[in-house]
Amino acid sequence: MEFADSPADAAFRAEVAQWLAEHVVGEYAEIGGRGGSGDESFGFDVRRAWERELGAGGWTCLGWPIEYGGRGASIAQQVIFNEEYVRAKAPGRVGVLGEGLLGPTLIHYGTEEQKARFLPPIVAGEELWCQGYSEPNAGSDLASLATRAVRDGDEWVVTGQKVWTSLAHQSDWCFVMCRTDPTSERHKGLSYLLVPMNQEGIEIRPIQQLTDTSEFNEVFFDGARTSVDNVVGEPGQGWMVGLATLAFERGVGLLGHLLSFRREFDELLAIAHANGAANDPLMKDRLTKSYVDLEILRVTTLRSLTGVEGPAAAPEASILKLFWSTWHQDFGTLAMDVTGMASTIVGQAYELDSPQRTFLFSRSETIYGGSNEIQRNIIGERVLGLPAEPKVQLSGSGK
Ligand SMILES: Cc1cc2nc3c(=O)[nH]c(=O)nc-3n(C[C@H](O)[C@H](O)[C@H](O)COP(=O)(O)OP(=O)(O)OC[C@H]3O[C@@H](n4cnc5c(N)ncnc54)[C@H](O)[C@@H]3O)c2cc1C
Repeated sequence: MEFADSPADAAFRAEVAQWLAEHVVGEYAEIGGRGGSGDESFGFDVRRAWERELGAGGWTCLGWPIEYGGRGASIAQQVIFNEEYVRAKAPGRVGVLGEGLLGPTLIHYGTEEQKARFLPPIVAGEELWCQGYSEPNAGSDLASLATRAVRDGDEWVVTGQKVWTSLAHQSDWCFVMCRTDPTSERHKGLSYLLVPMNQEGIEIRPIQQLTDTSEFNEVFFDGARTSVDNVVGEPGQGWMVGLATLAFERGVGLLGHLLSFRREFDELLAIAHANGAANDPLMKDRLTKSYVDLEILRVTTLRSLTGVEGPAAAPEASILKLFWSTWHQDFGTLAMDVTGMASTIVGQAYELDSPQRTFLFSRSETIYGGSNEIQRNIIGERVLGLPAEPKVQLSGSGK
């Protein structure tokens, strides 16, 4: 893989940088790159307007095919866009679940009518999506999910509870995994439904997190309705479609994440210089090791993306998830140590600074998107061919 910009890519980089310089102004510049993990409520309305600004400029959904409103951008161009985006301190994106998860899933499995209805508002930054998979008794073991949908005329009627649903309180639509065959078990008889969030029959209760924000929610479906046409794939085939969405989660979306890690690292380095921590030999050692590991992660991620198209979650993708989530948690601890005693103090309004947000939010990263234990199981069983773990029924949890 070539890491230097080709002449065409250099021209693309210049175009991105110029557009961002002209548009990250006023209230968008005031956001100053904020709105990432643990900071997701910050300036949400401004960031929602920014999503539409990006859409109008043609800077959302870069990797999607041109026929669906994307640019058909290469991986290299998507990397360049993300690099310039972080450099310009553009506002944290609010449309990532639609762009990164639902959109690619529809492009592969949706009907032409579904593509025509749902893709343009994602490209335009007009409609936001959330992911309704996890339930109180179905997380790592998603196949035990119990939310059900029954057909009533030309509608599906959905009943059940989802939990940990990121940004549900800000979303217009949810892609919901539910059981449409009441006699089915495990991964059979599931369907992948697209459900409008703004309706009677859906109650959203935010969950307060360590960061004092509520990035995720409980979502209660009590007779919520959606058109019978809003099932992706055949009814009963939802498991395959749902897994494809998870595969997209582990792909290009990681790039933006890694670049925000680099910005956090640079901020921490500046703090270490300013407060003298950089003069401590042990701290120097830890900062250097952290930087080297981040570079290994960046280069390995780029290599893993080369030549990948469509939902391609090789078991090796688990290695990257394990590596980045663990790296970021360790980095959060390092950020606390570099900041020293100041890291233990917050203002009266519980206003966290960047190292504190990183430390607290990164605790969740070894859980979501498949916990570290699950990633190790996948690597052990599917990469190394080690014996599968015994299937045990955990009492009380239904798993
Ligand atoms: C910040 C955040 C955002 C999230 N956003 C969303 C979202 O938008 N939509 C959504 O649907 N979900 C979301 N989730 C939920 C996430 O997918 C689940 O938390 C995750 O799948 C783990 O499920 P669980 O919490 O039920 O834990 P469990 O599955 O109950 O696991 C509990 C513990 O047991 C371990 N464990 C479980 N099974 C095994 C096994 N077979 N072998 C070894 N160890 C095991 C796990 O590693 C974990 O440590 C989010 C979670 C977080 C933290």
